[in-house]
Amino acid sequence: MSPRDVRERRGVVIAIDGPAASGKSSTAQWVARELSIRHVDSGSLYRAATWAALLDAPDPGAWTPESVLAASSGIRLLPTSVSFVPFLDDVDLTEATRSATVTSQVSSVARMGEVRAWVNDCVRAVAKDHDVVVDGRDIGTAVFPDAGLKIFLVADPWERARRRLVQRLGRSPTEAEIAAETEWLVRRDAADATQTVQARDAILLDTTYLTQQEQVERIVALARAAFSELS
Ligand code: C5P
Repeated sequence: MSPRDVRERRGVVIAIDGPAASGKSSTAQWVARELSIRHVDSGSLYRAATWAALLDAPDPGAWTPESVLAASSGIRLLPTSVSFVPFLDDVDLTEATRSATVTSQVSSVARMGEVRAWVNDCVRAVAKDHDVVVDGRDIGTAVFPDAGLKIFLVADPWERARRRLVQRLGRSPTEAEIAAETEWLVRRDAADATQTVQARDAILLDTTYLTQQEQVERIVALARAAFSELS
């Protein structure tokens, strides 16, 4: 799809970008549910491509954009009742692609321009016929520069690390655990730095002191104000 086609589409596109563990995906999912539209997690496609590349050639040193794209050729974004998720044949890849091995390699795959073009095409294709909330790193800049609402979520790294650990461990983490996780997150922010871009017209939302419900309420209110069809 050309940029012109994207501009001519008049459906709802809400772009939510931000760094790792800023709560993008869970917030985008909740916002989509509140607005009865579908959620698309663009990171899930980078993860699916990485998963497919690992299956094809376990040594990431051997990967090229061509080999990653060839390994990913059967992957499609298919609809569920609330979202679009990556499938290979009739298998939903969501769980498989959240493994630690995929997470450790995904940033390098996401730096391949050809892979970015493939992900962007997949996401634009589903948004052509459906109202969507799309989360990622560059949705408001590279994928949908004309999105009717753009949000850029940020939060203090220590708080992002604490939230990740609470989710993973199901208990309050210790200070030492949060410190180690913060170090990991800062390294990940650096690995994703070139891909993570705040659009000039994005609304910056610092969620450090907000509950998830408060973030969702703010974005839903902004969406209803931005799109008459949602109010
Ligand atoms: O959001 P999540 O952590 O699942 O994304 C996985 C990876 O995909 C990120 O670390 C980043 O490298 C990449 N990504 C990207 N651009 C996007 C979405 C994700 O580069 N729009």
